[in-house]
Amino acid sequence: MRLSFWQTLVDSMKKKLLSWKGKWLSFGGRITLLNSVLTSLPVFLLSVFLAPKSVVRTMEKIRRDFLWGGCEESRKVHWVSWEMVCKDRHEGGLGVKSIRTFNLSLLGKWWGKLAKGEVGLWSRLIKEKYGVGNENWMSWVKDGRGEGSSWWKDVCRIDVLGENRNGWLSNGFEIILGDGEEVSFWWDSWCEEGVLAHRFPRLYMLSAGMDYKIKQMGVWIEDKWSWTLPWRRLLLDRESQAVEELKKVLESTKLYQGRKDKWVWKFSMDGCYTTRSCYSNLTVTQMKSHKYVFGRVWNPNAPTKVCGFNWQLLLNRVPTKTNLFKRGIIKDPAEVMCCLCQEHVEDCDHLFITCKVTVEIWNRCFNCVQTDEDWLGDGVVSSGMDYMAHSK
Ligand SMILES: [Zn+2]
Repeated sequence: MRLSFWQTLVDSMKKKLLSWKGKWLSFGGRITLLNSVLTSLPVFLLSVFLAPKSVVRTMEKIRRDFLWGGCEESRKVHWVSWEMVCKDRHEGGLGVKSIRTFNLSLLGKWWGKLAKGEVGLWSRLIKEKYGVGNENWMSWVKDGRGEGSSWWKDVCRIDVLGENRNGWLSNGFEIILGDGEEVSFWWDSWCEEGVLAHRFPRLYMLSAGMDYKIKQMGVWIEDKWSWTLPWRRLLLDRESQAVEELKKVLESTKLYQGRKDKWVWKFSMDGCYTTRSCYSNLTVTQMKSHKYVFGRVWNPNAPTKVCGFNWQLLLNRVPTKTNLFKRGIIKDPAEVMCCLCQEHVEDCDHLFITCKVTVEIWNRCFNCVQTDEDWLGDGVVSSGMDYMAHSK
């Protein structure tokens, strides 16, 4: 795929944005646009081709600049990292789609098609060209790296491109055993112990059926499956012990005569691959405790720009004097005192909660609406700051 080809895409994205004159839009308006217009533009291309890194970088830069300052050329402060912006709202982000991750999830659909065993022309072609013997699709896709057309190579290698998550795609598929005809006994990850050749390397070396399918590792006696594991020589005591262990693993396996093995995608209800389930699996983090806090920020009854501001506030990413000083926009440390009381350093907690002027404002507000609620909850601003501290 030539760069000039992608350039058309980059240009059209830029043009679309310029026409919106971002600087006249509120922060909320820009978020909405980023999600609707920008992401819908390149979907077709992204679902067929792997975008080169440089193209992704350029597109993300256009979007980033748009979010933080419209399309003006002047340099704007990007208050929150793009990585954070691309997280789900409950995870502390804005739910803006990351092009790279989106691209990978869209391409994963080709794996999904193979897993489903679709019988269309496309899968027949791929199978003819790359399928070896009666191996299952997973082995040819995994071995497909470095062979075939550049498109096929890309589809095969997306599995190793997830950030710090090699195997993010292949690990998402699992086998539901039927009669074991298509599943490699030693090399497919079909039981809880994972790949048996890794779990029992010594036994694998001794096996007389290193490339056997599960179906070849036993026989049906009437309707009961019985394992017969062939070895190249008589086993030593120590090895027999390992065999006992292996047999324990096999004990819980259930095979079904005459039923085909089936591949399913672990992250969707019906076992079929979907871009959405893949994307959310790739972007999810383990920050459950903060879901509550961030979940409250995006109140559907409040204007998006208000929610957006609260979000920035929670992350301690608003232009308080302390933050401006940290970024070198205010140069003199003497200038960071609170603009309301002049008595304390101006940071988020002070300016929005503890400053004596602020407290007075809050009190008047609460007198107006007459609420006894513990309005500070569990100190939302501070939790947001904790969040940032721990995620760095
Ligand atoms: Zn103050």
